[in-house]
Amino acid sequence: MQGGGEGTRNHVNHNYLRLQFQVNRNKGMAKKVLRELRINRDWCKGCGICVSFCPKQVLELDSKEKAVAVRPEDCICCMLCELRCPDLAIEVLIDQGSDNE
Ligand code: SF4
Ligand code: SF4
Repeated sequence: MQGGGEGTRNHVNHNYLRLQFQVNRNKGMAKKVLRELRINRDWCKGCGICVSFCPKQVLELDSKEKAVAVRPEDCICCMLCELRCPDLAIEVLIDQGSDNE
């Protein structure tokens, strides 16, 4: 049989090009720097979803069961907390820095 190898090769090339594109795009992208993690304490119901999803353990619940940023310096601006909060109580405010400096 012929042709199977060609198809696989094309698939691999396509994936390689896509990866290369992503790498180049990331190189040119401005570095995100956290300006503020704005938490609306009136809206926060203390469900802890943001705490669980944060990959950097930036957030914790305080004694009143409200989300607080205890390690904002570790935030990588992934936006997961803002996107996952069911009550829209977190806003991640970002400064666009440049990594070409
Ligand atoms: S996900 Fe939203 S409501 Fe739940 S603890 Fe975090 S900020 Fe509060
Ligand atoms: S933006 Fe990402 S890293 Fe920063 S606090 Fe939210 S979940 Fe954590």
